[in-house]
Amino acid sequence: MKRELRVDPTNNDIIIFARERAARPLDKVKQNISEENHNEEEYKEDCPFCSGNEEKTSESVEEICINDKWIAKSIKNKYPIVDMESEEIYGIHEVIIENFRHNANFFNMTEEEFKIMFKLYINRYKYLSREKGIEYVNLFKNFLRSSGASLMHSHAQIIALSMIPPEVQKELVIAHDYYGWEKTNLYEDILSEEREYKKRIIYSGTRFLALIPSASKNPTEVRIIFDKGVKFEDLDENDIEELSYSFKNIFKNYEEMFGIIPFNICVHSHPLGIETKKYFNLHIHIFPRKFNYGGFELSTSMYVSSFPPEEIAEKMRIKEK
Ligand SMILES: [Zn+2]
Ligand SMILES: [Zn+2]
Repeated sequence: MKRELRVDPTNNDIIIFARERAARPLDKVKQNISEENHNEEEYKEDCPFCSGNEEKTSESVEEICINDKWIAKSIKNKYPIVDMESEEIYGIHEVIIENFRHNANFFNMTEEEFKIMFKLYINRYKYLSREKGIEYVNLFKNFLRSSGASLMHSHAQIIALSMIPPEVQKELVIAHDYYGWEKTNLYEDILSEEREYKKRIIYSGTRFLALIPSASKNPTEVRIIFDKGVKFEDLDENDIEELSYSFKNIFKNYEEMFGIIPFNICVHSHPLGIETKKYFNLHIHIFPRKFNYGGFELSTSMYVSSFPPEEIAEKMRIKEK
């Protein structure tokens, strides 16, 4: 059968579409996430992130409270990747505990809980981006052990860094080159192409599109791309409302398709020290870890997909709010 080669224009990842490979007998390899027990009790005595166990972690740097009770909070990471003590690479590493409930996760959180979480994400981002010598603020999330999470209680991490990470640097260079050749913004071109084509869009926000990329190293990725000039620190009430509605439904749809699975979230925002707004747009990668990479991907950096994005988009599409 015919193979098709596609390139993710934002990072030059190469994807080989091999449609009939979807028929491979995969079913015998069941994903075993039951031991990670995502559906525990609301409170766990030995969990440092649970409400009631505050003495087990450092004091929070920020809390969002309702009736004097914290709903979400950020704390200094006890085991930071970077600190302010070194010269070569330095920064600040915080853990954002997204909800006080031990058993909260993106598959069961309410829209209201998502709103509080996004508000805290943005507040911490704003705060850390103003720290001296910081070039980039990296916000990401791991859910369940096989995505890299070490604690089950739902949390994200935010790291202010003295350098721009290579993955973001790569995207910046590609977008900058594109701007040089085409005299237009790569992300704007993707957005208008997707708006015209429609079949890969799963939700249209006022200032963003949620879509299944035409090519991605992860065929079930949802990418949220914001309009030109929108910065993470400037997301407003309406953006938060639409993001919360989208996230609630994206994870509802993932659950219907795959069950409760590990995933990663990567926010790719603008660097702080250089002006990139005219050629680079804020975007969020949502990477379900349904399929793991094998030897072919590791040895070649080429990725194989058997799922047309249009078909995934049809299953993932969200009703207009
Ligand atoms: Zn907990
Ligand atoms: Zn990106």
